[in-house]
Amino acid sequence: MNPLARLDQKFVWHPFTQMRDWLRREPLVIKKAQGAVLTDAKGREYIDANSSIWTNLHGHRHPRINRALSRQLRRVAHTSALGFANEPASLLAAELVRAAAPISKRSRPSRLNKVFFSDDGSTAMEVALKMSYETARRSGLSRRPRFLSLQGAYHGDTVGAVSLGHIDLFHKAYNGLLFGAGEAMSPYCYRCPFNRARPAREDARLTRRCEWECVGKVEQTMSKARTVGRPFTSFVVEPLMQGAAGMIPQPEGWLSRVAELCRGGGISIIADEVMTGFGRTGVRDARAARRGRLPLFACERESVRPDYLVVAKGLTGGYLPMAATLTTQDVFNVFLGEYEEFKTFFHGHSFTGNQLGAAAALESLALLQERREEDRRLRLQRSLSDQLRRLWALPEVGDIRQVGLVAGIELVRNWKTREPFDLRERAGIRVCETMTRHGVLTRPIGNVVVLMPPYCVTDEQVVRMVDAVERGVRALSR
Ligand SMILES: *Cc1c(COP(=O)(O)O)cnc(C)c1O
Repeated sequence: MNPLARLDQKFVWHPFTQMRDWLRREPLVIKKAQGAVLTDAKGREYIDANSSIWTNLHGHRHPRINRALSRQLRRVAHTSALGFANEPASLLAAELVRAAAPISKRSRPSRLNKVFFSDDGSTAMEVALKMSYETARRSGLSRRPRFLSLQGAYHGDTVGAVSLGHIDLFHKAYNGLLFGAGEAMSPYCYRCPFNRARPAREDARLTRRCEWECVGKVEQTMSKARTVGRPFTSFVVEPLMQGAAGMIPQPEGWLSRVAELCRGGGISIIADEVMTGFGRTGVRDARAARRGRLPLFACERESVRPDYLVVAKGLTGGYLPMAATLTTQDVFNVFLGEYEEFKTFFHGHSFTGNQLGAAAALESLALLQERREEDRRLRLQRSLSDQLRRLWALPEVGDIRQVGLVAGIELVRNWKTREPFDLRERAGIRVCETMTRHGVLTRPIGNVVVLMPPYCVTDEQVVRMVDAVERGVRALSR
């Protein structure tokens, strides 16, 4: 066995991993990477088909981000944001505020104009959660503010973020630790009890036959809470697509309708764009899209203006752990006061505003907004959709859900009845194991295979990724 693999097995405890399974076989040791390709200790190459768990944007070892980091290293790697400002974090905050404004309004002052830095998606969600909790209390809206989130929601693994989640498999064990959030119906068209359309060889969002009962359900949940005197103060949502829930996309118009309900009910909106941010959700129609000026955030595609925008994974292009919570002047003002009023936002992390991370993020944001890169994303969205189409020929493929530059492929025992595989059959895991043997790395979510490559993948690499899925699915019935 590779000596590094041996050390790993001896000492490292991996996240979200049944370590007994892990210890049964030699792990892949990733030694280096270039662009969308990872190389292991044995010199084998793989396409990084889930962008190293949804973090990488421009590919590995991007010359521009590498240079930005070297430049920053010649100055300083980290200084504390407690008591000091620094160059890259100041510049990055300004850039994030600009990027979060709707494209048509970039010249005007942005609504989300305050940036609180932290380290990862979970901590950035904690920040949003504490800010909105305190804001609701201090403005007299509620003594015990309550949160509403979607079925299957995943917002991170710190205790507050777990409280906002609804994945029993992950969260149930910690119930005793949690404050608990309300649960609203998620618009999962493929398995929606209100969808009267028969299974078809097309994305269930497009063939669905319904009367937006799912939006009605969210409305009911909100109004019921009001009736019993415990209204929700904040709605937490992954806009356009729920990631860890199984790549569950929202049909066009759902987000703006639900945002309308929130506005009407005085409920603030926390947009968790940890996965969807930085161009990942692409454009509505990549063929019709004009060149350039693409939205960077999912909210913008439905003109939704959240009160909190939470970003992490892709913020530094996938280089370093860094996150940010953007919010409004109104929220910021709630925490203003004389020192002795103790209205301070008492929250922070040792690495808040890290200089290296901010330098990488600045360069990544600059890249994202260049013409060439925008064209590249449009092209990737198109080639992904062209390639995915052929998977409909496989009877074990029930649903193919693409939103921009991310896709979930749901495996089923029988597409005509949508009968799922039992999780114990490990259909998703088996498909991904076959894919690994064919040089493509990704992770399933239950029975859903995820494709979410770095934006630099070539058309040829997209073909190879989808080929690998096809081989994996065909191997299921063998
Ligand atoms: C990954 C993820 C998180 C948590 O982020 P970490 O960096 O893993 O803490 C939160 N929300 C969403 C939507 C995510 O995909």
